[in-house]
Amino acid sequence: MRLRNIKGSREVIAACPYVITPERAERTSFEARYHWSVRGCWKQVFGNEGPLRIEIGMGKGAFLMEQARRNPDVNYVGIEKYSSVLLRAVQKQEQERLPNIRLIRMEAENIGDVFAEGEVDRIYLNFSDPWPKEAHARRRLTSGRFLKRYDSILRDGGRIEFKTDNQELFDFSLEEIDGQKWKILAITRDLHRDPAWEKDNIMTEYEQRWSAQGKPICGLHLLHCKLPEF
Ligand code: SAH
Repeated sequence: MRLRNIKGSREVIAACPYVITPERAERTSFEARYHWSVRGCWKQVFGNEGPLRIEIGMGKGAFLMEQARRNPDVNYVGIEKYSSVLLRAVQKQEQERLPNIRLIRMEAENIGDVFAEGEVDRIYLNFSDPWPKEAHARRRLTSGRFLKRYDSILRDGGRIEFKTDNQELFDFSLEEIDGQKWKILAITRDLHRDPAWEKDNIMTEYEQRWSAQGKPICGLHLLHCKLPEF
């Protein structure tokens, strides 16, 4: 999702108390490096011991906010790379001020800078960009490269919950799963015709759009099994 660049969106986002931003740690000759003081400290950020669930590529945030309304004892962090998109979620959160939500503008590749080993209870991936060209396969958020990152931040027994309308991305994702680390808990290729899936389903913005056009939605729940280290 990419919206027209909105002037001033970065300033609005930076001023929002629900948005977490990094501090500049050092500047090398090539790039500014950042330090995320929240890493390993999310319990202090929220002021409670609740589990931490994150959505990567949250778009305008409707799914995350509904999760947070339904589960006040769970803490949610929404991650989105474009400020023009994140701005929409910021505006909604400024209105509603749900205490169990924080938002971050960042590239998911750097997720390990923000969450410590085993700190996350669940990762939601909803309608992730399919990157259909083979040359871009490593950018897909369910590629082995990203699954390795999730393996490090998710607790043992944590989960990934993935939804997509894109059959090719779904098939690719199934192939990328390392069966020793991830166990399939549930899988569907037509979520809205499966009562067990439909029951507590929260529709995302993309899901509303694609299912209104009659597209079947695929869903996958993975259990994280941390291997003992020798
Ligand atoms: N989850 C929403 C939006 C889906 S579109 C919904 O279901 O309605 C995918 C979103 O992921 C876009 O907003 C895009 O900007 C974001 N995104 C894609 N790749 C990303 C990455 N590497 N890091 C962070 N956000 C990403």
